[in-house]
Amino acid sequence: SSNVHHRPADATGTEAQQQHADAFSLDGKLALITGGGTGIGLAIAQCMAAAGATVIITGRREAVLREAAESIGESVQYMVNDVTDLSAIDGMVAEVEATYGPLDILVNNAGINLKKPALEVTDEDFDRILHTNLHSVFALTRACASRMVARQKGVILMISSMAAYYGIDRVVAYAASKSAVEGMVKVLASEFSGRGVRVNAIAPGFIETAMSRTAMNSDPDRRDRAMRRTPMGKFGQPEDIGNAAVFLASDAARYITGASLPVDGGNSIGF
Ligand code: NDP
Repeated sequence: SSNVHHRPADATGTEAQQQHADAFSLDGKLALITGGGTGIGLAIAQCMAAAGATVIITGRREAVLREAAESIGESVQYMVNDVTDLSAIDGMVAEVEATYGPLDILVNNAGINLKKPALEVTDEDFDRILHTNLHSVFALTRACASRMVARQKGVILMISSMAAYYGIDRVVAYAASKSAVEGMVKVLASEFSGRGVRVNAIAPGFIETAMSRTAMNSDPDRRDRAMRRTPMGKFGQPEDIGNAAVFLASDAARYITGASLPVDGGNSIGF
C-alpha cells in the first residue's frame, strides 16, 4: 500500500555511483601546495591526499614540513622552498616533476599578513607583502602553467581572502595583494581556457587555525566583531577550505574556471 517504489540496485545504479565517485576523486593526481606545512595549506594537503592525490608541500621550515608530511602519510612529500626566491622557482618545479612526475594541481596557498594602519605601512612592509602574496604567486604559476599548457592539462588554485572583497581595516597591503590575485585569476583563466588548464580562487572567511585562534582569543572584541559578520555564527575549519580545494581540483569542477569561491559561513552575503 506504500507509494514508495523500491527498485533493486542494478548495474546502472552502481555505474552511476562509480562515475560520481570518480568525478570527485583525485586518484593518481600530483599536487604541489605552497605553505602546506601549517594551517589551511596542511588541511588542503590532508584532504587532497585523502582524495587519492600524491601531494608535495613546501615552506621555509624543514622541521614543520617533515612533521606535517609524517602526520599524513606516505602520499605526502615535502620540499623546503622559499617562494619569494624567484630565481629558484623554475628549478624547484623541474625537480618536483623529475622526482614525482607531471604536476596536475598547483595550490598557491603560502601567504603572509600584516596588520597596521595604512599610514604606518612602510615601503618595505608593502613590498614584502606584495612580493610574497602576489609576485611569487605569479612566478610559480607561470612556471607550472607553462608545463600544464604544453600538456593541455592542469588546475591552478589561489587562496585569496575576504580582504579582496571588502574594506577590512589595517590590512591595506594584504588586501591589495589578494585583490590583485583575484584579477590575475580571471586573466589566466581566460588565456588558458582553450588549453586544458583551469584557474580558480577560494576566498576563505574566518578560518580557525592555530594562529588565528591565538589572535582571536587574545582579542575578544575582534572575535565578537568577526562573529557578528558571520551569518552562520561560527568560524570555519581548515578542512572546509580543504574540501572546497578538492572539489575545484577534481573533474567534478571541469566546467569551472575564472571563479572565486567564498568559503566563509556567509560573510560574502554582506557585512
Ligand atoms: P599560516 O601562517 O599557518 O600559513 C602560511 C604558510 O605559508 C606557512 O606554512 C608558511 O610556512 C608558508 N609561507 C609563508 N611565507 C612563505 C614563503 N616565503 N615561502 C614558502 N612558504 C611560505 O596561515 P593560514 O593557513 O591561515 O594561511 C594560508 C593562506 O590562507 C594564506 O594565503 C592566507 O592569506 C589565506 N587566508 C587565511 C585565512 C584565515 O582565516 N586563516 C583567511 C583568508 C585567507 P613557513 O613559515 O615555514 O615558510
